[in-house]
Amino acid sequence: APSASIETRNPATGAVLKRYDAHDSATVDRLLERAASEAARWRERSFAGRAQLMGAAAATLRARKAELALLATAEMGKPVAEAEAEVEKCALACDWFAENAERLLRAIEIPSSATRSYAAFRPLGVLLAIMPWNFPYWQAFRAAAPAMMAGNVVVLKHAANVTGCALAIEEIFRSSGFPEGAFTTLLVGSKAMEPIVLHDRVAAVTLTGSEAAGSSVGALAGKAIKKTVMELGGSDYFIVLADADLERAAEIGVKARFQNSGQSCIAAKRFIIEDAVYDRYVALFVEKTRELAVGDPTQRETRIGPMARHDLRDDLAAQVRDTVAAGAALLAGGEPLPGPGAFFAPTVVGNVRPGMRMAEEETFGPAAAMFRVRNADEAVALANESRYGLGGNLWTRDIALAERLAARLESGNVFVNGMTASDPRLPFGGVKKSGIGRELSEFGIREFVNVQTVWIG
Ligand code: NAP
Repeated sequence: APSASIETRNPATGAVLKRYDAHDSATVDRLLERAASEAARWRERSFAGRAQLMGAAAATLRARKAELALLATAEMGKPVAEAEAEVEKCALACDWFAENAERLLRAIEIPSSATRSYAAFRPLGVLLAIMPWNFPYWQAFRAAAPAMMAGNVVVLKHAANVTGCALAIEEIFRSSGFPEGAFTTLLVGSKAMEPIVLHDRVAAVTLTGSEAAGSSVGALAGKAIKKTVMELGGSDYFIVLADADLERAAEIGVKARFQNSGQSCIAAKRFIIEDAVYDRYVALFVEKTRELAVGDPTQRETRIGPMARHDLRDDLAAQVRDTVAAGAALLAGGEPLPGPGAFFAPTVVGNVRPGMRMAEEETFGPAAAMFRVRNADEAVALANESRYGLGGNLWTRDIALAERLAARLESGNVFVNGMTASDPRLPFGGVKKSGIGRELSEFGIREFVNVQTVWIG
């Protein structure tokens, strides 16, 4: 049978960028065999040996930053200045894990009945990474850098619309001196993934993407008894209490919602505002939203580019339309922009209430939902009503109160008076339908290892 093809499109113009032949099953088998044989060699390399290569990958990323950024911008519409920052952040993560992996994976001595006993961290083998398009480089590097420093090899199945980035990532590792098979990009559609998840050469699976993808891949991995980490959707709360610095909370709130044109799992999505400051906060937020420069993502001053695909833009338009039809107030935007690109006007919807689509569902694009609550207790209850539990923000000058409230918030992170962002030093991940496990930090690097007990009599 002729192999399937994968087509990429520029979402700013709708134009086809490139067609790629997908790998057929014989090619996939060969690449997985190659990865497995490299895994046996890679695990024997010293940390210093792996770190030297990972540092070289960081240097390659920095040297090719401009070109890589333009590729991401062409494939998924990210404003080019944000794409460059993303490439820089990948380099930082490579460097951080190169410098810290050995320390984070040092065996832990544990006194017992033995003469000596300890827990050691051994690699698992081939890690399958299924990644989304929204941070096409970061998602792959922040999964790969710790896993590879721990002695695993990685096979990437990237989102179809960022196939050029997926191949560029493989090329970055190769040209930095990594052996063949240490990092492999597979070109396969999501419908062809079942045999790959089940494949005997794949030891474990990490997936970042939608709840639907997580549930389906998680079920397969469970059937095959494979460890998984899942980073899924989010509907992060952004609580503003009456004593907050409103100006700053509005400035950061707009940034937190509209970063990456609103397409971030940890974007602030549900703004939960104490009644006493609701009107003032929302007015500031709307004013700052109207100032966002929307347009050609290759222009440096652009803050909001197109959404990554037309179907995703149409889904967001329907969520906003249905929320307003259910009685919420449209305060800014609300419509797709005319033209061939997948643009959506930066949108603010006020008086959103539970039951409305923007309250119940994740909004993966430039649209903010504003909720009014009477007090901090109501804010926490509303924040926790979501099926998701990735992250959230809390704005108040009362830090003792913030820390008490944090203990009651059902989310993988709480950022007080600041914007949620991932950081290689800090654990990252969610609870509830936002996922399982943690990435980055010592918690992330220990997800894909065999915690081996060594007992010496
Ligand atoms: P998606 O459809 O779940 O796609 C993500 C990845 O999974 C892609 O590589 C996709 O491949 C693949 N995939 C989808 N269904 C699959 C299946 N049944 N088996 C195997 N692979 C499958 O996600 P999206 O809608 O494009 O992206 C947005 C979603 O990702 C949002 O829900 C967002 O919150 C979430 N996300 C979460 C995080 C996080 O860290 N928590 C970060 C970014 C995004 P194809 O492209 O070939 O379909």
